[in-house]
Amino acid sequence: MMQSSEHARSYYRATANAMPERAVLDADLDADVCVIGGGFTGVNTAIELAQRGLSVILLEARRIGWGASGRNGGQLIRGIGHDVSGFAKYIGEEGVAYLERAGIDSVALVGERIREHGIDCDLRWGFCELANTPAQFAAFTREQEHLAQLGYTPETRLVPRHAMAQVVDSTVYAGGLVDMGSGHLHPLNLVLGEARVAEALGVRIFEHSPVLELIHGDRVQVRCASGTVRAGHLVLACNAHLEELEPCLSGKVLPAGSYIIATEPLSETQARQLIPQNLALCDQKIGLDYYRLSADRRLLFGGACHYSGRDPADIAAYMQPKMLKVFPQLANTAIEFQWGGKIGITANRFPQVGRLQQYPNVFYAQGYSGHGLNVTHWCARLLAEGIHAGQSRGLDLFSRVPHMTFPGGKLLRSPLLALGMLGLRLRGLVAG
Ligand SMILES: Cc1cc2nc3c(=O)[nH]c(=O)nc-3n(C[C@H](O)[C@H](O)[C@H](O)COP(=O)(O)OP(=O)(O)OC[C@H]3O[C@@H](n4cnc5c(N)ncnc54)[C@H](O)[C@@H]3O)c2cc1C
Repeated sequence: MMQSSEHARSYYRATANAMPERAVLDADLDADVCVIGGGFTGVNTAIELAQRGLSVILLEARRIGWGASGRNGGQLIRGIGHDVSGFAKYIGEEGVAYLERAGIDSVALVGERIREHGIDCDLRWGFCELANTPAQFAAFTREQEHLAQLGYTPETRLVPRHAMAQVVDSTVYAGGLVDMGSGHLHPLNLVLGEARVAEALGVRIFEHSPVLELIHGDRVQVRCASGTVRAGHLVLACNAHLEELEPCLSGKVLPAGSYIIATEPLSETQARQLIPQNLALCDQKIGLDYYRLSADRRLLFGGACHYSGRDPADIAAYMQPKMLKVFPQLANTAIEFQWGGKIGITANRFPQVGRLQQYPNVFYAQGYSGHGLNVTHWCARLLAEGIHAGQSRGLDLFSRVPHMTFPGGKLLRSPLLALGMLGLRLRGLVAG
């Protein structure tokens, strides 16, 4: 499934807007910047660079949106990483304040891009964070207060256990925190729409053009099978799919599988009963459950975080019991789509953004750790600022948070992390 060069056979592919096939790179070309990777990071970096007047070539190994960007849960949720306050020792309190603000502004940036360019991607506002335990629900009160201190203007609302039917027809939760400033959308249609925006700005996009080799220098040579791009700057936007192209970066990200099923369309009554306010919802476990309704009223239910590198043989058989634990009333509802994708996990769950020390004209952003829809767009802006202006405060702050390499190299890093997570679970520090 992961190796096909066509989009995953997902609900998103079945309902995608136009997907024009771009040419394969078959010439030697020059540009100010070459971007590798046609997901949210790459496409939005290309947009931001072109808006600043730079010429850009984007190379995608398969299709635009083939990776995580075209197959994710579609949850557009505020925040960056997990708890940025722990990074004060690297970036100071001011830096932490910047990241907290950026976690909010990045959602607004996605909303603006959609609105400004009229991208048709089923955007709906409203999200509910779900507490699995009373302690987690108690923490939501502090989170709501903190948001108010940050000057967060969208409505937020605590929902105690006894009132949960207002947001979700399930008895498993200890409460929720509704946030009307986050939401959900059709991610493949978003990235396809953004690629059209990039092209309208003059970005040249090539598909089915895997980059095979980088020859570093003042002008980087980016070699594909039947053509080369020479550029003053290079952006690596390959996330969990970077592999051996730049091993010093791929060793810092662990590709982990996450899986989604889509039911048949529910009736209007059923859908309104299940998720009355059409919110996106997500719980607090490590291999978390995340779900929402699609525009045609299917339940899109995602979850799991597989470090083993092995996908379940039958994703529907693996995911359906998880869905039925939350929604036993869907026992007779058919599953019509099933797919998976690779999340790029980092050791501190914070994205890695910066430039290579040994090759300062090579920039990168990766490792959003399962929370990338808003953050990719923000990081794309920082990369463009850094390349265009030579500096960017945001880029500098992100790069000061250490990027840890997973021990064990390519073969051992998955089992070692899986063991680490098991250890935490056994000590009761994280839910399973
Ligand atoms: C199942 C799943 C559910 C998720 N749900 C959510 C969610 O609900 N909300 C949220 O915020 N985040 C979610 N995420 C995370 C989010 O999707 C990612 O953080 C984000 O899409 C990363 O975008 P990207 O552009 O960096 O990488 P990708 O979208 O993975 O794109 C990388 C691209 O690089 C290309 N590439 C790799 N190597 C080469 C090469 N050598 N030459 C040319 N091209 C190359 C690949 O083909 C790929 O298209 C989810 C992820 C998954 C997998």
